[in-house]
Amino acid sequence: MANSDNNRRKFMATTLQSVGLTALGGLLWSGYSDEVKAAPLVLRPPGALPEEDFLKACIKCGLCAEACVNRESNKNRDGSKRPGTLQMAKGGDHVMIGTPFFKPVEVPCYMCDDIPCVPVCPSGALDMPSLLNETEELDINKARMGLAVVHKESCIAFWGIQCDACYRACPLLDEAITLEYAKNERTGKHAFLLPVVHSDVCTGCGLCEKACVTEEPAIFVLPIEYSTGKAGSHYVKGWDKKDQERIKDAKEIHTQTERSEKEAADYLNMEVEY
Ligand code: SF4
Ligand code: SF4
Ligand code: SF4
Repeated sequence: MANSDNNRRKFMATTLQSVGLTALGGLLWSGYSDEVKAAPLVLRPPGALPEEDFLKACIKCGLCAEACVNRESNKNRDGSKRPGTLQMAKGGDHVMIGTPFFKPVEVPCYMCDDIPCVPVCPSGALDMPSLLNETEELDINKARMGLAVVHKESCIAFWGIQCDACYRACPLLDEAITLEYAKNERTGKHAFLLPVVHSDVCTGCGLCEKACVTEEPAIFVLPIEYSTGKAGSHYVKGWDKKDQERIKDAKEIHTQTERSEKEAADYLNMEVEY
């Protein structure tokens, strides 16, 4: 009897331990997945597949980050080694653990000509063909890691203070970012020189974000899906020949009503007595 009591107690203790561990595991897992869900704004290395596909493809080997850390040009002006751009996410980073990402405000992507982080990727999570130019060479200008966005209220150039730190830091100066002239109506005699980012050229490297002089950067990189809108295919630009092509076979639809039989001028002159 004592033996069977002991066995029952042991069984209950083991069961409760398993339940406890399962619950703890569940809590940890839900905490972890909440952490990942809460971090949709992560920036990935050049050539990364769209986020969902990237997460499925990346085998978390860290070769991209290693290539980034060890690249020869990874030096500060004084010759000292600077930290790599790519980090491998760990607990607390709010990014899927073991995947590569970067934070421009800490270390931006220096847009290396040979893009050492990409050819080493064994899984295709970093898609090399997407970075090839017309002559089949790797071209970092084709990278779309994100898109820089200017927050007008905190950018001091929009206050009328002269600042072009972001513009000067951009490796694609006058292409990805331009300074646009505008009259300062407040003073009447000064001009604004305003930074404008061009989404068809900006690579999302974040060198502008790193260079911004404000307390929190007034220019910052967001993943493309969070920094762009979408007009919809039913809008056609009348001044764009290529866009016009889309509707060249569209049938004209005429709606005939009693009203449309009359000329517009008939309405204009209605009830007007001369
Ligand atoms: S291209 Fe950017 S992410 Fe890739 S190795 Fe160079 S600095 Fe690192
Ligand atoms: S090299 Fe490719 S598979 Fe490996 S961690 Fe980087 S992105 Fe993921
Ligand atoms: S992120 Fe900034 S620095 Fe980099 S290409 Fe775009 S505008 Fe230029």
